[in-house]
Amino acid sequence: TETQSKTAHPKGLWVLFGTEMWERFNFYGMRTLLTLFLVNSLLMKEEDASLIYGGFLGLCYLTPMLGGFIADRFFGNRNCIMLGGLLMAIGQLLLFTSASVFGDNLGLATAIMYSGLGVIIFGNGFFKPNISSMVGSLYPKQEKSKLDTAFTIFYMGINIGAFLGQFICPLVGDVKTEGIRDIHAFKWGFLAAAIAMLIGTLLFYFLKNKYVVTPEGKPLGGLPSKNESSDYEEGEAQSAVFSTIALLISVLVFIGMFLLFHFSVDGDNVVKTIIYPIIFSSGIALAVLILLEKNLTKIEIHRILVIYIISFFIIFFWAAFEQAGSSLTFIADNQTDRNFFGWQMPASMVQIFNGLFVVALAVPFSMLWDKLRANDKEPISPVKLAFGLLIIAISFFMIANQVKDLGTSGLLAVKWLILLYLLNTCAELCLSPIGLSLVGKLSPKRFSSLLYGVFFLSNASGYALAGTLGSILPATGDKFTKAKELGIDLQAVLDKKIIPTAEQLQLLDKHQIMDHNP
Ligand code: GLN
Repeated sequence: TETQSKTAHPKGLWVLFGTEMWERFNFYGMRTLLTLFLVNSLLMKEEDASLIYGGFLGLCYLTPMLGGFIADRFFGNRNCIMLGGLLMAIGQLLLFTSASVFGDNLGLATAIMYSGLGVIIFGNGFFKPNISSMVGSLYPKQEKSKLDTAFTIFYMGINIGAFLGQFICPLVGDVKTEGIRDIHAFKWGFLAAAIAMLIGTLLFYFLKNKYVVTPEGKPLGGLPSKNESSDYEEGEAQSAVFSTIALLISVLVFIGMFLLFHFSVDGDNVVKTIIYPIIFSSGIALAVLILLEKNLTKIEIHRILVIYIISFFIIFFWAAFEQAGSSLTFIADNQTDRNFFGWQMPASMVQIFNGLFVVALAVPFSMLWDKLRANDKEPISPVKLAFGLLIIAISFFMIANQVKDLGTSGLLAVKWLILLYLLNTCAELCLSPIGLSLVGKLSPKRFSSLLYGVFFLSNASGYALAGTLGSILPATGDKFTKAKELGIDLQAVLDKKIIPTAEQLQLLDKHQIMDHNP
């Protein structure tokens, strides 16, 4: 009926909501375990784990340029979503494999881990831009006013997924008994993530033809060259083709990553000297390329410059925000009393509060802006962004003040981390959605996708910077620091420069530093 079409959202939104929810379950569930897995099972230094984490996240926001481009030119949104989903599931299975074979096969497990992350990076690149743009295409021109609400609903789906993943994956993967971590449990977390991604992909595969359609019932997001109405009867054949492509990409990435990291002297060096510069320079290169376009008017140039200025400041926001999975998780693990109403919360689960607070606060925040707008008091977008930056700065001053006297043995109460995530979430809600819509409003139409690209590359740069900042945290919980306290130079042992005595081996085993397999 008339009133229904005014308020109701197309059913396809709920399919995209569900698909994205399972995908974010997979992504954030894995992200929350990643650094702890690197440090505890793959025997990395915390510093290097932070660098890898930053490089991984950064690349996850670089590949969407590629995924968007390939969708627009060749495969269409739908196919890229399924391809990306399959790739991410394969990547998670590789992490599962890595977490199953480490110990005696540390080198192999490390190479498989890099390959898994590589495959996930490509999967995310195919998936993320295409599912977001499908949300937009669900609404015909006359219903574009519903887009803001649609994206608020979609953002809820993202964070319900993040919440579930950061609950389930730590529950099965970050397991401690009497304070001693089961370093073999991480694999169950990665397996849970893989299953979640498969559920999301299957959900989309089976429901897309029925629901992800125009009001007239024509499928959306099909192949770009053919017209939108081309039917999808030959779906079976297509899914076989795309599974093959997913496997092929996985194998190629696997071989590439294996060669890059297995034969390089030092994995973290590759991240610092190759991956970070690629991330930073692609943002700058794209920004300059757009400005070189000859038929830009003066006003357009000014608007683009505004986007660049905003993108620049947003780098620092994500650099702080993404301490979540590195330095803040290490602090949660090594220096936090995680007693939460009588329950010892796993360290990797503390991140859950971000998703939880977004779900609780996204609607109140958008109501707040509506109310302020109705009274003509709504702050302009740059002011909201500045607020976001200010709030996150305050939250880190607060935590810095709390940890400054902890030394290497003091404990922080978990409530401070929860408060930090509350403030970070308020900051995120002032900044992330507003930034996105500001880019949409300021971009000249013909450069809109590319300017979104610049904006996401600023996210990517922020993540890379987050890795660098995280690596500054003095180590307290990694194996090297623990071994040093026992008087053993673990690096020299690993490099086979010294052969530990039987007594030292026993010590390393007892303190869960190295599996002792005589
Ligand atoms: N948490 C949101 C997501 O995963 C936003 C992340 C971002 O914009 N960098 O989609």
